[in-house]
Amino acid sequence: MKLILLGAPGAGKGTVAKLLTKMDGSVQISTGDILRAAVAAGTELGKQAEAAMKAGDLVSDELIMGIMRDRLKEDDCKNGYLLDGFPRTIPQAEALKELLADMGEELDAVVNIDVPRDVILDRLTTRRTCTKCGEIYNVKSNPPKVEGICDKCGGPVVQRDDETEEAISNRLDVYNEKTAPLAGFYEKEGLLLTVQATSSDAVIDAIKEKLGK
Ligand code: ADP
Ligand code: ZN
Repeated sequence: MKLILLGAPGAGKGTVAKLLTKMDGSVQISTGDILRAAVAAGTELGKQAEAAMKAGDLVSDELIMGIMRDRLKEDDCKNGYLLDGFPRTIPQAEALKELLADMGEELDAVVNIDVPRDVILDRLTTRRTCTKCGEIYNVKSNPPKVEGICDKCGGPVVQRDDETEEAISNRLDVYNEKTAPLAGFYEKEGLLLTVQATSSDAVIDAIKEKLGK
């Protein structure tokens, strides 16, 4: 399947994407993960993205489109892809539309995961991430077996730089201003599926029903 996962930070896009990859072999593409890896590796891309990311602001559309133009042409996209955290602005959505048209591809749906703000705030302040493999934990509901160490890869599990209260509040404002309008954009395209759900299983069920699987 070819899906865009839309939703505020902390809505569960990444979790849903990981579950969906197991269903049909489609690949999760997270621009946030790509950028964090670039920052960690100290590449030119990472240097250009670092300051904006740390503040919870968006990285430029040009930078993101440069990444995605290459990424969507890779072999592993043949079985479908789940776009997690992209597009995030109307110009990105327009550029993606053009890119897909050039490639002769069509999206199956744009899934808008709608979660109440208080749930999101609670999730983000208690979220911890493995800096090595990207596995996500929660200090309250799903802590690593050994504090600070990833169950999967043994890497360090930490609070992200952009998950301080100040950066979180900024990310939510940026989301409302720049990304929330994408729901209207995809509604017009006839692709929007809005799911009001706090459980990822409920989101998966709604997607299966929509795609008739
Ligand atoms: P979230 O948990 O907020 O959904 P992500 O991991 O998707 O966070 O992204 C982390 C940061 O990377 C964002 O706050 C932003 O600075 C940058 N970023 C990721 N994807 C995009 C994008 N499509 N456009 C602009 N900036 C992006
Ligand atoms: Zn790990």
